[in-house]
Amino acid sequence: MADNKKTSPKRELLLEKQVNGYDRINAEDLEACEEYNEKYKVFIDEGKTERLATEYAVSAAEKAGFREYKRGDSLKQGDKIYRVNRDKAIVLAVIGSEGLDKGVNIAAAHLDAPRLDIKTTPLYEDSELAYFKTHYYGGIKKYQWLAIPLELHGVIALKSGDVIKVSIGKDPSDPVLVISDLLPHLASEQMKKTAAETVAGEKLNALLGSIPEPEDEGSDRVKLYILGILNEKYGITEADLHSAELSLVPAFNARDVGLDRSMVGAYGHDDRVCSFGCLQGILDINNPAKTAVCVLVDKEEIGSEGVTGMQSSFFDTFIDDICQSFNVPLKACFENSFCISSDVAAAYDPSFPEPYDKLNSARLNYGLGIVKYTGSRGKSGASDASAEVVAKIRRILDEADVVWQMAPLGKVDAGGGGTVAKFMANRNIDTIDAGVPVLSMHAPFEIVAKLDNYMSYKGLKAFYLSV
Ligand code: MN
Ligand code: MN
Repeated sequence: MADNKKTSPKRELLLEKQVNGYDRINAEDLEACEEYNEKYKVFIDEGKTERLATEYAVSAAEKAGFREYKRGDSLKQGDKIYRVNRDKAIVLAVIGSEGLDKGVNIAAAHLDAPRLDIKTTPLYEDSELAYFKTHYYGGIKKYQWLAIPLELHGVIALKSGDVIKVSIGKDPSDPVLVISDLLPHLASEQMKKTAAETVAGEKLNALLGSIPEPEDEGSDRVKLYILGILNEKYGITEADLHSAELSLVPAFNARDVGLDRSMVGAYGHDDRVCSFGCLQGILDINNPAKTAVCVLVDKEEIGSEGVTGMQSSFFDTFIDDICQSFNVPLKACFENSFCISSDVAAAYDPSFPEPYDKLNSARLNYGLGIVKYTGSRGKSGASDASAEVVAKIRRILDEADVVWQMAPLGKVDAGGGGTVAKFMANRNIDTIDAGVPVLSMHAPFEIVAKLDNYMSYKGLKAFYLSV
């Protein structure tokens, strides 16, 4: 019967059926993929805050021959340079053979991730238990942060100008902190609330200790005992916590996920998975035609604001400094530049299919996700890349044999989001989003597919070298 069916030559016009990346990837790439993901796991475990991730980037850059760039330093083709912004963001560049008036190829990603920040007057005692009050950072489902082990990272800045680094919980011999949850036996009222209301922000208090100070008969002896420990370890008083930047992040490390080990589960894939691709990509290239630029920023999760966010003129200043050393106006460079805003995409989740448009969704193992526009309620807040920009990225990725897919975010009315893309586009730079699809985005333990992670790196590397 089937033999008699007519087949129109018009079938050639149809969108080629996408295949699973595992049905396409060659043996060489498969091996490189494993290696790349092992390296990535080290980074994601070392870089659990933007400061720690920046530290990693600096050390990796220096090992790869990058030097810190100071304004006025002379530059020549092939030079590899970087500059750090207040320990929380970094920009790296490899000087190309073409003039900067031809534009630069920029990959941008963010190093910050949702977490719980410690309040500025955080320490208190209640019912002979001591706590830190927290204020969540970024979009979280608050209930996911209860009853899981947490580690504390950050700095305490003293009036003297000294800055003390804090790290508690990362070393396996360290204690961890935790936020308690109500037992189900007594949770009948709690369980009636909506998921958004189940845990109020003011209940996100991290348990610090329970021993009363033996040398004191006054009030708050448990708090006093904890303060004694902090003083002994860091030389601080309670007032010094006013000028601290301390964050609670999950106290578990990256693990392979699945019986086939095809995925990586970790805290902070958004957006350190793309940050690592951008970073490793620029570390691995030599002598690009266009100057290649990698910028890894802070504060994306709260709107890219502030001196360390993508809206900061820190970035413009760095590019301007380079431009000046070649006597090229910054605006001439920007108008011919191209930027990949590399941020994670939402992977289709078969357990929660409702908010996805299946025809327009990223899938695990289908490669780097291209996102033409983000935004919500009718693309509001999106920079919306032009057709020409999408065509250019299609060409670059296909020429480099990168597995990629179109990856918009969910159904039209389901919600939305944003990235640093619009802040690049606002600078008169052609910009498009492209990143790794993630399951359980913004959860304490997010999931990416190893193949997508590697294809993102491969694509970014090809982009840096493109003309
Ligand atoms: Mn992100
Ligand atoms: Mn995010």
